[in-house]
Amino acid sequence: MDKFLLKLFLTYVNIVNMKDLFIEKGVLINDAQLEKFEKYREILLFYNERFNITTITEKKEVYVKHFLDSCLCSDLFMDNSNVIEIGSGGGFPSVPLKIMRDDLSFTLVESTGKKCTFLKEVVKELDLKNVDVLNGRAEDFGKDKRYREKFDHVTARAVAKLNTLCEYCIPFLKVKGSFIALKANAEEEIKEAQNAIAVLGGKISLIKEYSLSLEDAKRTVIKIEKIKNTPSQYPRGNGKERKQPL
Ligand code: SAM
Repeated sequence: MDKFLLKLFLTYVNIVNMKDLFIEKGVLINDAQLEKFEKYREILLFYNERFNITTITEKKEVYVKHFLDSCLCSDLFMDNSNVIEIGSGGGFPSVPLKIMRDDLSFTLVESTGKKCTFLKEVVKELDLKNVDVLNGRAEDFGKDKRYREKFDHVTARAVAKLNTLCEYCIPFLKVKGSFIALKANAEEEIKEAQNAIAVLGGKISLIKEYSLSLEDAKRTVIKIEKIKNTPSQYPRGNGKERKQPL
């Protein structure tokens, strides 16, 4: 077979296989979205050599542990809502969510400059509309009037324990907005975060557990609704969110 045709055939077979991973978990995905995921994976691997973005590089693992894991909470975001993500790193969960839900607008907050360079490149190359990248710390943006209590949703994965994370995240929410936290095994963290959630004006409205295909890894999505404004002294800053969690 001609080399070009062979490459085309292998790309097609690959895409079909990866599509099955999504479909098995009930995520409907079309070929245009799959092509975006594939392009995203290529950019991720290219930048990873210089920027150390992720330790997960094997193709199926990238699809399951990064892409699919990010998408399994997509039904929790309201139509046309604006979402801020804290500690975006390689773009998880926001970039996969944006590929699946083009109606959502995103602001990605990331404290490491080189990861922001990577994220901006992804936004440009995948031609993602209404996605901003902010280089800095959540504690600082959370006090800034332009961002405080301005979002319908805030999300984060693998950034800090839930009590710390609530102080980073809940200040960004409008009242009635919700924080969608992606966690591994979260039972203990949920217990420890009860005080932080109440003090910051939140209330847990959903805890959803599921497993990913690979190794049957356990995952938890926690939805925290904002029921009243966050007192102005939070986030406290100076590292107190991590050193002395509420
Ligand atoms: N969310 C991505 C994921 O699930 O793969 C990245 C997780 S990585 C372990 C945590 C990221 O959060 C890092 O890129 C780190 O620089 C960023 N980060 C940690 N604390 C932060 C803060 N207070 N404000 C903004 N970014 C923060």
